[in-house]
Amino acid sequence: MAQRDYYEVLGITRESGEREIKKAYRAKAMEFHPDRNPGTEAEEKFKEASEAYEVLSDAQKKQIYDSYGHAGLKNQGFSGFSGVGVEDIFSSFGDIFGDLFGFGGGRARRGGMSRGADLRYDMNITFEEAVLGCEQEIEVQQLQICATCAGNGAEPGSQPIRCPGCNGHGQVAHGQGLFVISTTCPQCHGGGQIQQKPCKTCHGEGRKPTMRSVTVKIPEGFADGMSLRYAGEGDPGMRGGPPGDLYVAVIVEPHPTLKRHNDDLIAEVTLSVSQAALGDKLDIELIEGEEMVSIPKGTQPGEIITIKKKGVARLRGGGKGDLHVVCKVEIPQHLSGKQKELFEELAFVSGEGKAKTKKRGIFS
Ligand SMILES: [Zn+2]
Ligand SMILES: [Zn+2]
Repeated sequence: MAQRDYYEVLGITRESGEREIKKAYRAKAMEFHPDRNPGTEAEEKFKEASEAYEVLSDAQKKQIYDSYGHAGLKNQGFSGFSGVGVEDIFSSFGDIFGDLFGFGGGRARRGGMSRGADLRYDMNITFEEAVLGCEQEIEVQQLQICATCAGNGAEPGSQPIRCPGCNGHGQVAHGQGLFVISTTCPQCHGGGQIQQKPCKTCHGEGRKPTMRSVTVKIPEGFADGMSLRYAGEGDPGMRGGPPGDLYVAVIVEPHPTLKRHNDDLIAEVTLSVSQAALGDKLDIELIEGEEMVSIPKGTQPGEIITIKKKGVARLRGGGKGDLHVVCKVEIPQHLSGKQKELFEELAFVSGEGKAKTKKRGIFS
């Protein structure tokens, strides 16, 4: 969408002063106020006017805009209000709207209702537990609604007063370079009101930290880095807001001999030269017991033997992954006399070099 000139949006000229800019914005905001004009078109116009006001009411931004236009602001990192909710605009311009609409910002109007925080718990499990699945009880520290005040933070029977920290807006503005960022008021947590007589049990917070045990069920085939989400098991919301979620992030400890690649298990075996050349049968220790693996004769170093469906159960059903056995071949570094003799003989019958067997007497 092509961006309109900010002066045109507010219906003013470049010569308009601070008061005129403010007056023009208030008129536009009144005209396109989303509460009076349901629908996205009015909301867009409201945002457009708010963005124009945001820029033209700020001397520095105005100067950039006057000199370089929209592109200049973009270069400074100003992204406008396209992705910003109407509520946030109210929060930023609380002062202007306060006397205009009779309330001090969208949030306070709703009584500071907010969603509880999401919680994250890091859980360590063993390689085996991830492969086979497990159940574990974890202790999560979370807030719980105070029973004494039922969450409103007031000593039973007392009345709340307007928050002095944000003057009831629920949001406080912080200047940060060119731009103003508003955050939830730390004093009232966005509610716009504080308790004159705070609840003694929770000190007016409405919630208090408690430990709670949660049973976590890890399904078989779980993997490192995955997490489980328990909807609604996070912190409770404020003033009737919905609770957050609990995320259990799973860290899988490595296995001393086995590795995993998705649903496949990877084992490593070290073969002697003769095992590699002649073939053998080996027992490999897997998670659920031993598995016999046939090493074919003539196995090369680095060769991988795959055994179907002996890997890890697929998390979403549908059987198991495969087992890959990586074959390493160890070349002996220290030979006994007899071994050396046999290698020399092997070399001789393979037609390599001289018949060293003649020298046998010297070394043995
Ligand atoms: Zn309380
Ligand atoms: Zn406040």
